[in-house]
Amino acid sequence: MNVTILGAGAMGSLFGGLLAAQGHTVELLDVNERHIGEIQRAGLTLDTDQGSQNMRVKACRPEQGTTPPDWLIVFTKTLHTDSALRAAQHLIGPHTCVLSLQNGLGNVEKLQAFVPRERIAIGVTTVPADMKGPGHVQSHGNGHSRFMSADGQRNPALVQLAADFNQAGLSCELDDQVLAAIWRKVAFNAALNGICAVTGSTVGQLGQHPDTRALVHRTSQEVIDVARAAGVLVDADGVHHDLDHAMEHHVHHKPSMLQDLLARRPTEVDAINGQVRAHGERLGVPTPCVSTLHTLVKQMEATAS
Ligand code: NAD
Repeated sequence: MNVTILGAGAMGSLFGGLLAAQGHTVELLDVNERHIGEIQRAGLTLDTDQGSQNMRVKACRPEQGTTPPDWLIVFTKTLHTDSALRAAQHLIGPHTCVLSLQNGLGNVEKLQAFVPRERIAIGVTTVPADMKGPGHVQSHGNGHSRFMSADGQRNPALVQLAADFNQAGLSCELDDQVLAAIWRKVAFNAALNGICAVTGSTVGQLGQHPDTRALVHRTSQEVIDVARAAGVLVDADGVHHDLDHAMEHHVHHKPSMLQDLLARRPTEVDAINGQVRAHGERLGVPTPCVSTLHTLVKQMEATAS
């Protein structure tokens, strides 16, 4: 399989590296010159629970990519999808399929501007990954991905991709209910990411105050209500259970939205709270908590820049 990773940060480097380790031809495309330079100079280093491995993988800027791949896997943050795809447009050949496991809503719509719907697959992943430094990524703990083609067809390329992921140690499955899984993750993230971001709290700290804990659940419930109005049934009990579990067990975790604000980077709030807010307005479902968090995080982004 020929695979190109567009956005080879923590997740892209992990997925690309593990596929390369299985003998697939992988090209990593990114705009982070130090990261690309280090991979070109010293290889990509992946630290996982299986140990540390260093591998040679091709890495360059998107406009320098040469070969249209079988699969283009988009792993930029959602706010960079458009610009990344514009720079890599020449790599989308007549048979190239595109996969997004990025967080948030609206990913199909963004990809559809560049590739027909029948060659798009979307999903969610709980695989964890962090950048340790240029050319160096770590992933500890378990994770699982679920995805499906945007037109709902289990085409042979998709089935093969799932098999190749599993063989590379990237546990995954094809899921006919992938939209419910995407909204479920958005319900979780809109609450925990958003509230941690504006309060500067860790996930565990939210759980220590009954009022804040109630706000977390109320925010997620708004997302679940919007999803229902959009025709997507989200397992509400599952979401509320996940929230309680996270507040009790991921005590010191700082969600990516908080980490981004602390590092004065723009966040993915538009793809999470912003998208839910827009769907709510369109469908006539009130989203006071989700929308307030969206406004506050946008204000914090603006103040920090
Ligand atoms: P990251 O910031 O580590 O990586 C994103 C990469 O995209 C960066 O290396 C950046 O330089 C690159 N990029 C930015 N603009 C680009 C452009 N125009 N062209 C090419 N590359 C560009 O982010 P991440 O943590 O790997 O997350 C990627 C996606 O996966 C996000 O949507 C995130 O929400 C989702 N996700 C992350 C995790 C995790 O544990 N890290 C887990 C599940 C889902």
